[in-house]
Amino acid sequence: MKVMKFGGTSVGSPQRIKDVAALVNSKEGNIVVLSAMSGTTNQLLEIADYLQMGNPVGAAETLSRLEDKYSGVISELFADAEEEYRCGATKAISLSIEAIRSEIEKPMSGQTEKNIVSRGELMSTALMLNYMLSQGINAKMLPALDYMVIDASGEPIASTIAERLKKLKKETGEADLYITQGFICRNSEGEVDNLKRGGSDYTASLVGAALGADEIQIWTDIDGMHNNDPRYVDNTAPVRKLHFEEAAELAYFGAKILHPTCILPAKLANIPVRLLNTMEPSAEGTLICNARPDHRIKAVAAKDNITAIKIKSGRMLLAYGFLSRVFEIFERYRTSIDMVVTSEVGVSVTIDNEQRLPEILAELKTLGTITVDKDMVIICVVGDLEWSNRGFEAAVVNALKDLPVRMISYGGSNYNISLLVRKADKVKALSLLSEYLFTK
Ligand code: ASP
Ligand code: MG
Repeated sequence: MKVMKFGGTSVGSPQRIKDVAALVNSKEGNIVVLSAMSGTTNQLLEIADYLQMGNPVGAAETLSRLEDKYSGVISELFADAEEEYRCGATKAISLSIEAIRSEIEKPMSGQTEKNIVSRGELMSTALMLNYMLSQGINAKMLPALDYMVIDASGEPIASTIAERLKKLKKETGEADLYITQGFICRNSEGEVDNLKRGGSDYTASLVGAALGADEIQIWTDIDGMHNNDPRYVDNTAPVRKLHFEEAAELAYFGAKILHPTCILPAKLANIPVRLLNTMEPSAEGTLICNARPDHRIKAVAAKDNITAIKIKSGRMLLAYGFLSRVFEIFERYRTSIDMVVTSEVGVSVTIDNEQRLPEILAELKTLGTITVDKDMVIICVVGDLEWSNRGFEAAVVNALKDLPVRMISYGGSNYNISLLVRKADKVKALSLLSEYLFTK
């Protein structure tokens, strides 16, 4: 059994929905996880935003645009279908539109945005289910709100998810395939909630782990994970195979194709994740698994909007406890650190969230002299970088020999070298690394 997750663009139009239905058509009892149609989540958040701003008219106007869009989708998707299925889809969409309307009319609460945004996945899955039924596919729905749960800190509760999902699947009965919503869940109060933006990948991984799937497939519209960012560098190539740890580094450091949270449940359950392309279904894509090390550099990625902070202190010399005092300050302001580099008289760290920077800097000044560099970029080189392999770090540094490099971090894991450069040098750095590492 496979879990197959399709992102917003893969179900972004009636034609794309038809393509997905044709693609997944099987009798293997696979599970299809869907995102909202592309653009919908943003539109729903816009509605909530209008309400937040005290503008229900703006909210209602956005809703009516959404309603028009979905009625157009239904007309096209069910143009040749039997009335029964067009009716099924129309009813489900109206239910969601009315639910949003009632949120607009009600006084706003902490639940408003979550209730509204959950409708995107509820609508896309209802369209897909009815369309599949109209095509004679014996598909059944597994409503995510019946099994996907998070605890009070927002973490999915794997054991409860597994227990409820197995029970639900049994009660739902045999089917050729099952459809479920990505992203949405219930919180510890039983209220509608979600797994944060891009969370459908996480759903797929959690579902795969819960049911012990043979494979988790993430379908998008590019041919797997590339060895560099195709938006900035020419001649990038898909990476065929990645270790889970390599994929985690890449996903976190900028490869947009896979949500970083998605890796862990699959890795723990040892279920391979395959990244595939809806536009070219027979292409090989990228396989992520607990593969053996292969002594190669696989890919380069960049993470933007980084701020570097240097804390220099004579007191650090031969002292213990200095680093912990530095880190405590970041912890107090709930700001996570990406890179750390130390010397005997100073430490540099990077953060990607400047929200609490003024308070952090004020406290750091009690420990030493502070220098801040904004508009920096982390360039992350990923591969089998176990330290007994020779020459990789030299090749990376050599590739960037003509650029100013602010920090280098190596040896933190077996899979990554991170370098901090100026935003202005990002594209140059990515191109040089591709040239040196992948074409020579
Ligand atoms: N629809 C949600 C979002 O746009 C979840 C997802 O697509 O993964 O963030
Ligand atoms: Mg996504």
